[in-house]
Amino acid sequence: MNKLLFGISGLPIGSNIKKINYASGIEYVKSVGLDAMELLFVRNVNVTDKNKDEILKAKQNSNIYLSAHGSHYINLNADEYEKQEQSIQRLKAAILGLEKVRGRSLVFHPGFYLNKSKTESYNTIKQNLLKLPQGPIDLRLETTGKGTQFGTLEELVSICREVASCKLCIDFAHIHARSKGSLKNYKDFDNILKYISDNLGGSALKDMHIHMGGIKYGEKGEIRHLPLLESDFNYTACLKALKEYAVTGCVIAEGPLVEADALLLKKAYEKL
Ligand SMILES: [Zn+2]
Repeated sequence: MNKLLFGISGLPIGSNIKKINYASGIEYVKSVGLDAMELLFVRNVNVTDKNKDEILKAKQNSNIYLSAHGSHYINLNADEYEKQEQSIQRLKAAILGLEKVRGRSLVFHPGFYLNKSKTESYNTIKQNLLKLPQGPIDLRLETTGKGTQFGTLEELVSICREVASCKLCIDFAHIHARSKGSLKNYKDFDNILKYISDNLGGSALKDMHIHMGGIKYGEKGEIRHLPLLESDFNYTACLKALKEYAVTGCVIAEGPLVEADALLLKKAYEKL
């Protein structure tokens, strides 16, 4: 990809859309000047043989980048082996669903540490990720917002070096929440991009998948998403760093305002 696309997570709020679904949502997103949508497979894979054709048609007419967010019920580090296997099956089903509409990236949270050490969790999750197919869909491991969840930047970068099918989804709001508000200035964002480039090579910055949004956090990290302007997230500094490093790929805005915050980010980025 040779530019940075901006888009939304899930369906737009929209206005004057008669029937809101993925197909009409994609057309609406394009009409307001955005270029990407992340389908929400968080409860189930809601691309089926019934709706796939109209979604694909809308995607091709609008030239929209599609990703999907995988199930919330994934733990590749579960205590029970069957639960690990079920998580792998859920990921495989999501890959198939996204392939039907020629999506690019499947984003997910790999798991929880539970009572296991970080090293043991890392190894179990890595072994399970190696069982997933390497195909047209990039597996995007998302930086997570709580200390109980596997998924620090360092852990995920290390996995990406070891498992060829895996790439990053940098959720800046999650990194910010997990570290109780550590992303304050330009330098904090610069450090993250430099770390990625140093460890995965400059090419990783040319194919990034990013989540951005306002976030409320506490002692244990992430609490919930907030509108950007109601949060302390320094999106201007973040966008500046993305521009400085000439990052390309896709930025998905997360939060209750959906397309309004995605457009806020896009316009702020274009003004830099
Ligand atoms: Zn997520």
